[in-house]
Amino acid sequence: MSENPVQVLFHNFEQVANFVQHHVSNFIGHLNSSGPFGRGSLNVSIKAPFVETTSSVQPRDPILKGKSSTPVTKEELGRATWTFLHTLAAQYPDNPTRQQKKDVKELVQILSRMYPCKECADHFKEVLRSNPVQAGSHAEFSQWLCHVHNVVNRSIGKPVFHCERVDARWGKLECEQKACEIIGTTSIFGNI
Ligand code: FAD
Repeated sequence: MSENPVQVLFHNFEQVANFVQHHVSNFIGHLNSSGPFGRGSLNVSIKAPFVETTSSVQPRDPILKGKSSTPVTKEELGRATWTFLHTLAAQYPDNPTRQQKKDVKELVQILSRMYPCKECADHFKEVLRSNPVQAGSHAEFSQWLCHVHNVVNRSIGKPVFHCERVDARWGKLECEQKACEIIGTTSIFGNI
């Protein structure tokens, strides 16, 4: 029995489209991972190429093999966020500029609104109401942060941390020379 020529045409077109999609995905994935400018340097943004199988969706890209797509837990998110905040505090200057003080206060306020765990964000907003951000210096900010972290610790039954040890526990980001310093806004008139 002869096939409908329109069906044959559509079938061929589908095959060509699949071929092109497959090779373009692989090519872009290759540029992202090992292109001439290094991993991800071309900043080509594509969704990971997934291929549907009968049982599940499997990552096709070899870079993604073995990597879990499981969402992070509240605990992992918390640890990562505290690590970020305490590292920021460790690098926060002794004499911050007016802009740096403003930025760090805004950052904490935004965190309390955008934190991706609503229960935590709501609680943190309350914590901030009773403990407004203190960011006049490195010592002030890191002690304030230690204190509010302890308020959260207490509320969820975790041990309280001794804040005199905060500088021993949290250090500056390991980084070559001054490449990791916090960018400040200074003017010819000094700190603004
Ligand atoms: P973490 O509390 O994540 O601390 C990481 C490390 O920091 C510890 O191992 C310790 O070495 C050090 N550390 C501990 N305390 C201090 C301190 N005071 N100062 C300096 N260093 C310290 N979880 C909830 O279940 N409910 C909430 O409402 C909630 N609110 C949160 C609000 C914010 C803003 C954040 C960032 C997290 C919140 N979490 C909340 C998560 C929670 O605080 C923990 O991060 C999570 O339970 C994992 O705990 P952990 O034992 O690994 O240590």
